[in-house]
Amino acid sequence: MKYLYIVGALGSIGTQTLDIVRNNKDEFKVVGMAVGSNLALAKELIEEFKPEVVCYRNNKCDLSYSPIEYFGDEGLLKLASYHKYDNEVFVNALVGISGLLPTVYAIKSKKDIALANKETLVVAGDLIKALVKEYNVSLTPIDSEHSAILQCIHGENKSEIKRLIITASGGSFRNKKREELENVTKADALKHPNWSMGSKITIDSATMMNKGFEVIEAHYLFDIPYEKIDTILHPESIVHSMVEYNDGSIKAQIGASDMHIPIQYALRYPSHNNLDGKSLNLIGLNLNFMELSTLRYPCLKYAYMVAKKGGIYYAVLNAANEAAVYLFLNDKIKFLDIERIIYSEISNDEYKSISYNLENIIDISKKIIDKLVVRYGGK
Ligand code: NDP
Ligand code: MG
Repeated sequence: MKYLYIVGALGSIGTQTLDIVRNNKDEFKVVGMAVGSNLALAKELIEEFKPEVVCYRNNKCDLSYSPIEYFGDEGLLKLASYHKYDNEVFVNALVGISGLLPTVYAIKSKKDIALANKETLVVAGDLIKALVKEYNVSLTPIDSEHSAILQCIHGENKSEIKRLIITASGGSFRNKKREELENVTKADALKHPNWSMGSKITIDSATMMNKGFEVIEAHYLFDIPYEKIDTILHPESIVHSMVEYNDGSIKAQIGASDMHIPIQYALRYPSHNNLDGKSLNLIGLNLNFMELSTLRYPCLKYAYMVAKKGGIYYAVLNAANEAAVYLFLNDKIKFLDIERIIYSEISNDEYKSISYNLENIIDISKKIIDKLVVRYGGK
């Protein structure tokens, strides 16, 4: 039995993780749940899974039983620190930098980490990896591209990897030219062609910041230098990523565009055993691959620029993006302003002197987000 703590339990990844638990009750038990602001859904799912510990974002639900209850950001850390069983897994499905400290606390309480919250690795990859080593826990990706790479390198010798090839669907505006992007709307940006996801990552996919984050995520997860991480446009989202080896052989992981598959792989790694697995119909499949242009998608280039700068600039990149996406979703800025804001922040040399540690990462992120939100009238 694996004992799960699911934070962000009501979101896209959270509810799909709960689907897997629902179908495999002899294998997984939910011990802790951190829920967002949809109280009707929170009540329904808490009553169904009856976790011992619940963390509410704001207000609590009336329940038929009495779990331990925590609240807010502090509550997330208490939930992450709760420890009772040998085989505990912390599923981080929060959005943004709010996922960082809960991951740190979960590692320190000896939980294995199943990570959807990529922002944690973007802002603090080196620190998280050091903690994972120190506390001897595992860190397994939920992100579909990284799940694909994990599957492609299983049983292989890492020194024989020539490059990782991360696929990108192209997001909501993949059929638009750059000059057509100036006046696109929030509603259009939120219509992802292949995946149904939370609003922040859907915007990140449209700007391609998501792919930039995934390059950084891959660098940390697999210890591969940035020069060996490529991206490619693949509109069908069937090939979830690939690994090329020194002899020219390329391994790809392919499957339906269904996040249940990478989530359950993260929970059962390295087992593929699942009785409800969906089969992909290969007949008539047409797979296309195109160059992913950083002229069309500058946010991808910004990720590589930040990777060169390193240190605190990872947090600067994430914070600028977090603020800009929030402002766009609140109708305060236009779509292309997102990349302009990010570029302006990552080009600012003032951040150079800030050293890379957990406290500074959190502090500078908050300062940048607050500054940008005030500047553009978001609050
Ligand atoms: P959603 O927006 O669908 O869900 C996030 C959930 O977390 C919401 O219920 C939200 O509550 C809650 N939440 C967010 N921040 C906090 C907080 N500070 N305290 C308490 N609750 C919080 O997001 P996704 O599931 O799409 O994404 C989760 C993470 O997974 C992201 O980092 C994303 O990049 C990554 N990811 C997602 C994929 C997907 O297919 N969805 C694929 C790969 C990665 P509220 O309703 O109150 O906002
Ligand atoms: Mg992904």
